[in-house]
Amino acid sequence: MEKNDQKLLSSRLIKFWDKLYKESGDPEDCINNISMALEELAQELHLAKVVMDIRTPENRFQPQAQHLQKILYDQGREKTAEMYPFSFSFATGGNVTFYVSSAETPFQENEKIEMEAVLREIFYWYDRNLHRSFLHKVLSTDLETGAANPYGMGQFVGLLQAGKTLMQYCVVFFNIHNFKYVNKVFSYAEGDKILRKYTEQIMDSLAEDEKLARLGGDNYVALIKGEHVEDFLTEIREMRVDYANSVKSKSFLFGATVGISRLDGIQKGNLGEVMSRASIAYQESRRRAVGGVVWYSEEIRQAIMERQNVISNFKSILDNGEFIVYYQPKVDSSKMEICGAEALIRWQHEGSLIPPVKFIPQLEQEGSICRLDYYVLEQVCHFLKEREENNQRNICISVNFSRKHLEEDDFVQHVVSIIDKYEIPHKLIEVELTESEDFQQYGIMSEIVNSLKGHGIHTAIDDFGTGFSSLNMLKKVNLDVVKIDKSFIPFEEDYKGKEKDMTMLWSIVGMLHQLGKSMVAEGVETPEQLKYLQKVGCHIIQGYVFDKPLTEKEFVKRLTGDYYKTDVLK
Ligand code: C2E
Ligand code: CA
Ligand code: CA
Repeated sequence: MEKNDQKLLSSRLIKFWDKLYKESGDPEDCINNISMALEELAQELHLAKVVMDIRTPENRFQPQAQHLQKILYDQGREKTAEMYPFSFSFATGGNVTFYVSSAETPFQENEKIEMEAVLREIFYWYDRNLHRSFLHKVLSTDLETGAANPYGMGQFVGLLQAGKTLMQYCVVFFNIHNFKYVNKVFSYAEGDKILRKYTEQIMDSLAEDEKLARLGGDNYVALIKGEHVEDFLTEIREMRVDYANSVKSKSFLFGATVGISRLDGIQKGNLGEVMSRASIAYQESRRRAVGGVVWYSEEIRQAIMERQNVISNFKSILDNGEFIVYYQPKVDSSKMEICGAEALIRWQHEGSLIPPVKFIPQLEQEGSICRLDYYVLEQVCHFLKEREENNQRNICISVNFSRKHLEEDDFVQHVVSIIDKYEIPHKLIEVELTESEDFQQYGIMSEIVNSLKGHGIHTAIDDFGTGFSSLNMLKKVNLDVVKIDKSFIPFEEDYKGKEKDMTMLWSIVGMLHQLGKSMVAEGVETPEQLKYLQKVGCHIIQGYVFDKPLTEKEFVKRLTGDYYKTDVLK
């Protein structure tokens, strides 16, 4: 070769390497790059056609070994038979054949060696890309089901964000509703197969630019185009999966609990932000009901943050004295005299007063409620003790105790020890319990109530009538006081057409009288309701008609003088 020719070839080679080594994630792109690179050399090396054969072993994504044939370069000559082939085999399982036209000048040995070097490079480069893309697939796929895994979803979110299309999507977080049932009918191994089938069916319903990822267990997240989201919801809320083995076959209908969020207005556009919206909506969905759909909103986010706040900061909230006890008087309406009160907790947080519905359910779920109830009892005892020491009038105060206490071994001793620590008469405390949902707990409840009574502590059942077996409970557990829930006390404008409710109230009050129980009507708001209750024969009243829950300072005023004898009806 002349010196000039050599120069030409090396400049071509540089262009060749440039085009060949372009990074590409996708093996198909890699083939395109190779073809473009080969064009640089085609003329110099008299190339007519280059074909690569590659074998890929069987794997999880490809159940059978594959033999791929890729045409890397084709000058477009029709009769390959007239071409002269050179073939190189590679140890990793494949070969590359290149053809030069037999009409062209025959190859020199050194040219053949050069060509081999070039083709080796091409082969290893492609092979490397293939492995890289395979590795990428393994890293981004949930091998159990074939859906993406969280890493794969993160990559997808990154791509959408880069292409500025993320805001056209909704993120859907869902949990299969009744999947546990599957493992009761089939084995765990078969359960896995059914999960795979379920996943494949969902993936089949996706458009090409949508993605499903499994997060573990039976939890999934999907990125779905806005216009397709209603169809997708219908799909996952009623997904039928048929499965059969040699013994039995079954058709499962799966529902889902779903949290969903639009992604317009999303700021950072990373996976963390997308997932946090989805999981907030999902948490709320779970909290409301199994099998429902909840859309993300700023209000829901705030509420969840507050709840998490109360759980994670419970101890410091308690230590800082942010839980404040309010007192709601109970009034004996036959004498217009205060005859008791109920302690109700509030959380004084950053200048506002947070009501118990916003934090008690979370503390109950998490277990801290028991500590809070004992804390309230201590505060109440402390209040009563001070009054005792000052020889001031005292009345019985009831404290709410969560059902969670039924699981404690030393509930009664704990209550007694707190009261005794403050050296106040036991009769000044009433323990309010809520009806248990579990029949088996009636036995425990009965023991607790009898034991408290043995110590001279009053007991009351809260929200009577709202449980599913209030009468049973009344029969089995010998409580002193029954608090009739406000849902049994009709509003005056509702009286018409509410004969059934009124008959029920009459019957409840009549029955409680006959059983010798004391009773309190809760949530009484109007003078008309009050009059009605008096007519029915229920005289102890707790409700806004007399007072809302009061601060300790306001409550103290109710204990002095004859406040309720003056015209106080609201
Ligand atoms: P509850 O024990 O049934 O308490 C009565 C609820 O009814 C109180 O709500 C009270 O403010 C409200 N109420 C009283 N009168 C009226 C009325 O005329 N109309 C209406 N609409 N409502 C009235 P609050 O204080 O928000 O407490 C809600 C629930 O939180 C309580 O229901 C109780 O289950 C729970 N709770 C409150 N404090 C504690 C506590 O220290 N420990 C435990 N375990 N639970 C507590
Ligand atoms: Ca109560
Ligand atoms: Ca109640």
